Amino acid sequence: MQVFRTIAEFSRWRAAATPSVGFVPTMGYLHEGHLSLVRRARSENDSVVVSIFVNPTQFGPHEDFQRYPRDLNRDLGLLDTAQVDAVFTPAVDEMYPAGASTMVEVEALSNILEGASRPGHFRGVATIVCTLFHVVHPDRAYFGEKDYQQLQVIQRMVHDLRMPVKVIGCPTIREPDGLAMSSRNVYLTPTERQAAVALSRALSQAKRLSKDDVWEASRLQEEVQKMLDKEPLIRTDYVAIVHPQTLQPVDTAVTAEAVMCLAVWIGPTRLIDNIRLRAGEG
Ligand code: AMP
Repeated sequence: MQVFRTIAEFSRWRAAATPSVGFVPTMGYLHEGHLSLVRRARSENDSVVVSIFVNPTQFGPHEDFQRYPRDLNRDLGLLDTAQVDAVFTPAVDEMYPAGASTMVEVEALSNILEGASRPGHFRGVATIVCTLFHVVHPDRAYFGEKDYQQLQVIQRMVHDLRMPVKVIGCPTIREPDGLAMSSRNVYLTPTERQAAVALSRALSQAKRLSKDDVWEASRLQEEVQKMLDKEPLIRTDYVAIVHPQTLQPVDTAVTAEAVMCLAVWIGPTRLIDNIRLRAGEG
């Protein structure tokens, strides 16, 4: 496995890489969720590239950019074991040199849900992923459904800008008790960690209720909100039921598919999760 810190060095490797390249962009502090994307990339491509870059432009001024967990040596060990070919881990000024001022914005999807609470977040995400795609030139790129809105933002960007890359969404990997794996789970105290189980429990309850042939979004949202309210450490930001691609609210469903997305605060930590709902199906 080769590790590159500059675009110039990486590009020399890329020019000689075997025909299909699978790419997994990450911010590091890797867990099984990231590794599931790497394994999928490994099984579908000749070469696998992983980037590790904590992207400053997707963090708000009062968010956790400085304290975001980092452990490069451990990450490199995990990626080596997973038979990754190349890791690209640039410094901030390699990706944003002095004078850089071009940003990418996927307008219709960026100011709702996570974007409403984190202004500029998806602008930062789209900009760095666009830049990384231009550096890495992947044939396929792998993203987790855990960050559902992010996946839709990237799909839309690739479609709108005719980028020659296939974006592949991969299922959310969970802890045994249901909590979606996240690098940010490390912020949780033991009591907060226990409280965090309420997210996946509430989503599973919504899924159970949506197995009725006709369901109402407001009813499912209320049920989920009630379950979250039982947990005093949780402060809900939003519980939303949205169209899988447009992310616009869905009121009711007879046969349609929808996604329930939620975001909560547990102490100073923000957690998100989601589940697909399909009327009349398990
Ligand atoms: P991050 O390092 O948090 O930016 O995540 C890098 C990629 O891993 C993104 O595509 C995430 O959606 C994905 N990812 C993070 N957590 C999980 C998880 N629990 N299951 C599946 N994919 C995940």
